[in-house]
Parts: sequence; C-alpha cells; structure tokens
Amino acid sequence: MALHEYEKKRDFSKTSEPEPEFKVTGTRRFVVQEHHASHLHWDFRLEIEGVLKSWAVPKGPPEIPGIRRLAIQTEDHPVDYLDFEGEIAEGQYGAGRVTIWDRGTYDLEQLKPREIVVNLRGTRLQGPYVLVHTKDDQWIMLKKKV
Ligand code: MN
Repeated sequence: MALHEYEKKRDFSKTSEPEPEFKVTGTRRFVVQEHHASHLHWDFRLEIEGVLKSWAVPKGPPEIPGIRRLAIQTEDHPVDYLDFEGEIAEGQYGAGRVTIWDRGTYDLEQLKPREIVVNLRGTRLQGPYVLVHTKDDQWIMLKKKV
C-alpha cells in the first residue's frame, strides 16, 4: 500500500498530521510546504492517483527558468496533507514548524517513471516544471523555459 511508509514513520496519537488515507478526488492539486525541521527545506507534493507524490527540496523550488534544484523523493503522503500546517511535536518524525508556501492546481503533461512534467497554477509557482529522476531517491526539479 502506497501510504504504508507514511504510516510506519508516525505515531498519530502524538502528531497532528493527517492519518493515512488513500483518496481519489479527480482533482490535480499541489502544495509546497516550508518545513523548519532539523534542516530547513521545502516539500513539493503533487496529487497523483489517490496520494501526494512528495519531494523534499533543500533550496526550495526554482522560480526562474533553467535553475536546477535537487529534490529528494520522500514517502507518499495522504491527500489531506494538502491542507496541513502546524507544529510537528518534538521527538516525532519531521519535528518542526510547517507552513504552506504555495498551493494550486496543475495539469499533468507527462508521467513516466523517471520524468514528470507538470504545468503549475499556483500563486508563486506558475508554468511548466520538470522532475527528472537521476539516481536512488534523487531527482532534479527545474522550471522549463517557454
Ligand atoms: Mn519535510
């Protein structure tokens, strides 16, 4: 099950994060969460097939075309995580403050195992973005030149 890893890492009696739930909504939404964990990073999440495909982007998503950013794939998150903001308690996985940095909808232009192309319609992030798998859990995220 796609959310097994998410569930395994968390104690839902101790975190305010959403419980694991597979949910097909028929919408394509995305969120970027600023996450003040042990290392500040931004979590980029795309609603795909009932879950949120997720990447941790240490330097944040690129806002300028041609800039490449490392994106580390993390475990699938439940769709309800689109709305999550708050403090993950000390001692829990990912402890620290989470705020929504951007959100919106997107068009899925391409979904291959190693390459995802989306057209984002957020407040900060807009236009065509590409995620390319390089090795292990590492991807490159870049904004395409149009
Ligand atoms: Mn995170």
